[in-house]
Amino acid sequence: MRAIRRFTVRTVLPTELAALGELVHNLRWSWHPETTDLFSSVDPDLWEQVGHDPVALLGAVDPSRLRELAQDRRFLRRLADAADDLRDYLTSPKWYQSLPDAAKAIAYFSPEYGIAAALPQYSGGLGILAGDHLKAASDLGVPILAVGLLYRHGYFTQSLSPEGWQLEHYPSLDPGGLPLSLLKDVKVRVGLPEGRTLHAQVWVARVGRVPLLLLDSDVAENDSAARDVTDRLYGGGTDHRLMQELLLGIGGVRAIRAYCAATGHPEPEVFHTNEGHAGFLGLERIRELTESRLSFDEALEVVRAGTVFTTHTPVPAGIDRFPKDMIERQFGGDNAWPTVPVDRILALGVEEDPGRFNMAHMGMRLAQRVNGVSELHGDVSRGMFQALWPGFDLDEVPIGSITNGVHAPTWVSREIMEVAGRELPSLIDKAQGWEGVQKISDAEIWGIRGKLRRRLVEAARVRLRRSWRDRGASDAELGWVDDALDPEVLTIGFARRVPSYKRLTLMLRDPQRLRELLLDPDRPVQIVIAGKAHPADEGGKKLIQQIVRFADEEDVRHRIVFLPDYDMALGQLLVQGCDVWMNNPLRPLEACGTSGMKAALNGGLNLSIRDGWWDEWFDGTNGWAIPTADGVADPDRRDDLESGALLDLIEHEVADRFYDRAADGLPRRWLEMVKHTLATLGPKVLAGRMLRDYVVTLYTPASHSARALSSDAYGQARAFAAWCVRVSQAWPGVRVEHVEASGIGDTPEVGAALELRTTVALGDLSPGDVLVQAAYGQVGPHDELLSPSYLTLEEISNGDDGKAHYSGVVPLERTGAFGYTVRVVPHHSLMASHADLGLVALPEEPAGMTNGTLR
Ligand SMILES: *Cc1c(COP(=O)(O)O)cnc(C)c1O
Repeated sequence: MRAIRRFTVRTVLPTELAALGELVHNLRWSWHPETTDLFSSVDPDLWEQVGHDPVALLGAVDPSRLRELAQDRRFLRRLADAADDLRDYLTSPKWYQSLPDAAKAIAYFSPEYGIAAALPQYSGGLGILAGDHLKAASDLGVPILAVGLLYRHGYFTQSLSPEGWQLEHYPSLDPGGLPLSLLKDVKVRVGLPEGRTLHAQVWVARVGRVPLLLLDSDVAENDSAARDVTDRLYGGGTDHRLMQELLLGIGGVRAIRAYCAATGHPEPEVFHTNEGHAGFLGLERIRELTESRLSFDEALEVVRAGTVFTTHTPVPAGIDRFPKDMIERQFGGDNAWPTVPVDRILALGVEEDPGRFNMAHMGMRLAQRVNGVSELHGDVSRGMFQALWPGFDLDEVPIGSITNGVHAPTWVSREIMEVAGRELPSLIDKAQGWEGVQKISDAEIWGIRGKLRRRLVEAARVRLRRSWRDRGASDAELGWVDDALDPEVLTIGFARRVPSYKRLTLMLRDPQRLRELLLDPDRPVQIVIAGKAHPADEGGKKLIQQIVRFADEEDVRHRIVFLPDYDMALGQLLVQGCDVWMNNPLRPLEACGTSGMKAALNGGLNLSIRDGWWDEWFDGTNGWAIPTADGVADPDRRDDLESGALLDLIEHEVADRFYDRAADGLPRRWLEMVKHTLATLGPKVLAGRMLRDYVVTLYTPASHSARALSSDAYGQARAFAAWCVRVSQAWPGVRVEHVEASGIGDTPEVGAALELRTTVALGDLSPGDVLVQAAYGQVGPHDELLSPSYLTLEEISNGDDGKAHYSGVVPLERTGAFGYTVRVVPHHSLMASHADLGLVALPEEPAGMTNGTLR
């Protein structure tokens, strides 16, 4: 019989142990080993059985054991210390508290969060990044208030069929069994077409200082379809996804309002959306503002000023889009918001395909500040979205980048954290002092690396046995598992989601060659693999099956293993225990990638295609770059070339170095690379560095823009919006009419100065509304300016005929092909970039080119 509902009965803790409840209900325990030690000492065997989940521990522990602990003075002292430490962590001023004028609160929206294995609300990198973002924010005192959904079945857990096919199982999560508390007396409602309403309750998770609000539609007020809106992460069809995104975006803002009203938490000044899925939040904020006092255009400017949008996918197919009529149905007809016309909403999501509504395009139109997640991804994104800013060069497309980072206390092994604590600056966010790595002896590092490798090997054997049992093997057939993997052998890790661009099976292109590497009598390698394919991705499941079948073969199964159910716990084990972290995506489709950063902080070395973060920070000696055959059009040939190069590297460089031992048994040349990696990558890959970058370059400027617009009762917003409308309407009348140059003679030489004069028609605008600029520099074969420089020209006279004259002097600083042009762009102190309005006027261009499609 199956139960129709389940819930968890919570333990009543003896009053002496009340602090244990506080510790369990703040997820800070997940990156604080002293606290998990304390949990473990409640009942060490049980702690292992419940998979290091403290809520489950307290649910299962024998009440007599709790009574015993309530009398145990040593335990009580440790408990008091841990509780004091947590209170201190939550209240003492941190980096952010030293900043003048920073935002009072920042709302952060993400469809998934990877905070701990015990809260399975993530599928991969996007969620893990969101979790690390919150933890680093907490460490630095950044006042983030986060919003997401609570998926009653989370993401699936993975096992294998006897044939090596991925099987998915969706656990039933009961919020009572998770480290969550219900926000009492708060219900969020989102209107749906045909008079339906989507209701949700709000759970609060505490991630250190950061409250994380999780909306849950499994409530009695909902019909059964609405109850299932938050059933699974990335499950269901388009309609289901739209419901989830409406709840996250619109419901999320409403949840924030309710939370701030109930708790006195300051209202966010900045809204950050991690990918486009939460984009409807901007519409809800426009609705709020238009219902109280502003017009749509005015509200749009206020919302844009305070919104940050981070894009995560360099794959056009990965962009979140809906059929336009679905959006029309949601925001039109009897469900329309009176002050937010549906055609204005539709215009925000316009893209090439007239039948589609594009969430990324809406994200960019609703956010004044947009970023990608590595320098390369920033470049790729500027190319991908350039059409939104026609007339602007790639360099000027206003999409920046902040390279992702990882939260060291979550990912770095305890052993390394302890050495780092002795020799290094804090692993929270410190950029200086990493040369201290050189003070750590080779023997000590090698000793720790060996210990971590052994821990991985032992845990892998347990998981391997469990997997074979699940696949139907009996213990009698599994004797070999005790000797699977070898704690002394060079260990390569490969773990990630399994979309095709990540090329799980690249290493298998030449199976015979791989087999020889694995079985090399003197310098063997072993490979540990993990990864989940999206349930709807048959292709990905085939790749997993291919790998599993190879790893099943008797001659190699002790050297290559596939471990099912890649999650944070397995991830920690792998990034800590592997000597080499391998990554071979199809460049440039990996936006950033973060697992390699986790490996680097643990003293692992990266072996990767130069994509995402590795393109930026590979320096020739901190790991290996797999040469990419980026320009080769035939995908098969490209895979052949890259896989050949990968196996060559493993054989000739990686294994060679690993097994090159000095008289004392230490691989000196290997350890040199490990130390160099730690010293150079350490300060860069930290999530604390990432958070500071977000605060300094995005959150603080966004809060200042938002404050400026809302000052004097939104007077500035009204003025700025009126200006934007006026400038956009007048723009067709703006023309560069005439450009002349002098001062360089017939044979220009380096050092000469080019004097430019130009006449510009401004139509109904005045000189104060625009900047007239020379763009100049090297030109390519079609007269295109390559990374031009800009010089703002001076106004020399302003005729009554609506024409103005400008001049300036451009220096000729380098030899070779040189070109210049002149352009006019709108200018206002509240614009964040010249391209903000998507308007530019250039000489002799057809009229269409001068009209941006951004607004
Ligand atoms: C770090 C991590 C990821 C993301 O890693 P990528 O390098 O971006 O693939 C995904 N899943 C888990 C469990 C992780 O720990």
